[in-house]
Amino acid sequence: MPHGTVTEPARILVVGGGYVGMYTALRLQRQLRAEIAGGAVEIVVVTPDPYMTYQPFLPEAAAGSLSPRHVVVPLRRVLDRCRLLIGEVESIDHAKRAAILTTLATDEEGAGPVALTYDELVLAPGSVSRTLPVPGLAEHGIGFKTVEEAIGLRNHVLEQLDIASSTRDPALRDAALTFVFVGGGYAGVEALAELEDMARYATRYYHNIRPEDLRWVLVEAAGRILPEVGDEMGRYAIRELRGRNVDVRLDTRLDSCEDRVAVLSDGTRLPTRTVVWTAGVKPAPVLAATDLPRDGRGRIRCTAHLTVDGAPHAWAAGDAAAVPDVTAKEAGTPCAPNAQHAVRQAKVLAENLAASLRGRPLKEYAHAHAGSVASLGLHKGVAHVYGRKLKGYPAWFMHRVYHLSRMPTANRKARVLAEWTLSGLFKREVVSLGSLEHPRAEFELAAAPPPPPPHGTGPAGNDEASS
Ligand SMILES: Cc1cc2nc3c(=O)[nH]c(=O)nc-3n(C[C@H](O)[C@H](O)[C@H](O)COP(=O)(O)OP(=O)(O)OC[C@H]3O[C@@H](n4cnc5c(N)ncnc54)[C@H](O)[C@@H]3O)c2cc1C
Repeated sequence: MPHGTVTEPARILVVGGGYVGMYTALRLQRQLRAEIAGGAVEIVVVTPDPYMTYQPFLPEAAAGSLSPRHVVVPLRRVLDRCRLLIGEVESIDHAKRAAILTTLATDEEGAGPVALTYDELVLAPGSVSRTLPVPGLAEHGIGFKTVEEAIGLRNHVLEQLDIASSTRDPALRDAALTFVFVGGGYAGVEALAELEDMARYATRYYHNIRPEDLRWVLVEAAGRILPEVGDEMGRYAIRELRGRNVDVRLDTRLDSCEDRVAVLSDGTRLPTRTVVWTAGVKPAPVLAATDLPRDGRGRIRCTAHLTVDGAPHAWAAGDAAAVPDVTAKEAGTPCAPNAQHAVRQAKVLAENLAASLRGRPLKEYAHAHAGSVASLGLHKGVAHVYGRKLKGYPAWFMHRVYHLSRMPTANRKARVLAEWTLSGLFKREVVSLGSLEHPRAEFELAAAPPPPPPHGTGPAGNDEASS
């Protein structure tokens, strides 16, 4: 194995602790168990959070069907034979086999980013929301890619019901009860469908809000939604959503969302306090700060063996990588950025990396898209898997079974199943814990100097003083 001295282990640096990062490291620590134990190899995983997020469960976390901590997997527990560094890689000089990174301690130390050398690089930083220069979007838009965003959005939606319930201003009430989602892929559709379902249920606890007072708008630039489940099932999803009074606007774009007004390309103006942006993803920004080859969309150019094109000892997969889909009809078509590919690519990547360290041949990544399942709220769904089309309850059930089977670790599977069982037995959770986002507010208030007494009253007017 290539490394300077006999005593130093060969270092495999994994950038990112998401689907690809976690599954690759997990498989590598199993495959290279003897080498790790003997000190010949070490695996270092650098990632900003100490957990992997199971993104397909974010809509259910937003709806309150799952607790936030059960849709994430604790990396320290799962990757017990790897070294985990909580931080961010800022740039990579692969020619020098060096990454520059910041950790949580970097600011405290004041010494600036640190360099970490490696022998093998696994690049798996995924993607970020793909935004467009829509006026007002950067200030008012809400993303839906992280567990923080999902829980923040849940609290925000419930808070809008509280605002609408307590205001006497009809314009404020209308804006609070209008929810605009941009992007009709599974992230946008599932997030809207789950939240609409939850909010409609929640209205039963408000004396002055009826379900029909809520306005949900799905804005999609193309002429269909959920392309992953095919045309027929996509049309069914539109009918299902429209049946629930969701205003689905196809062939429409968001033109601006300044001053709390969403303006659509068909001229509609929607005063709203909620604009959720799920209109696609783009590769993680760190990729631009590497000396590795990228395709036109900014993804790392890979071979079907999951090596980086023309860069020995560099590997990549998932949303950040342009991996040729060898099963596609048209040569050169890259794999779509989804979990289905990410998980399978991670397996092949880990096996190939271990094989290359042992001087064995590499295998090609080949997976034909199996179809997709999507939830449209509690007991509602749509699926198109291996040619079979399902809708309604059976599709929703399949969605749950499929994702439960994919959820990493038996521990997490058991917790998710327990939560689903409990939520089937009891009423839904509809409380907003928005104050969790400002945990010091109460204490700051308590520690602040007391406000001056109202004009005209002094200690003499104070009950305690006068008693
Ligand atoms: C709401 C939602 C629902 C989805 N539902 C489905 C579904 O039903 N089916 C499906 O197939 N796919 C689904 N997807 C897509 C799927 O989750 C992604 O395709 C998959 O997560 C990609 O895996 P990845 O490892 O490439 O990226 P990720 O899982 O996003 O992991 C990337 C990791 O890299 C870290 N990172 C980023 N930059 C750096 C850096 N500079 N240094 C270190 N670490 C870094 C990130 O913090 C993250 O931990 C969904 C996505 C979302 C947002």
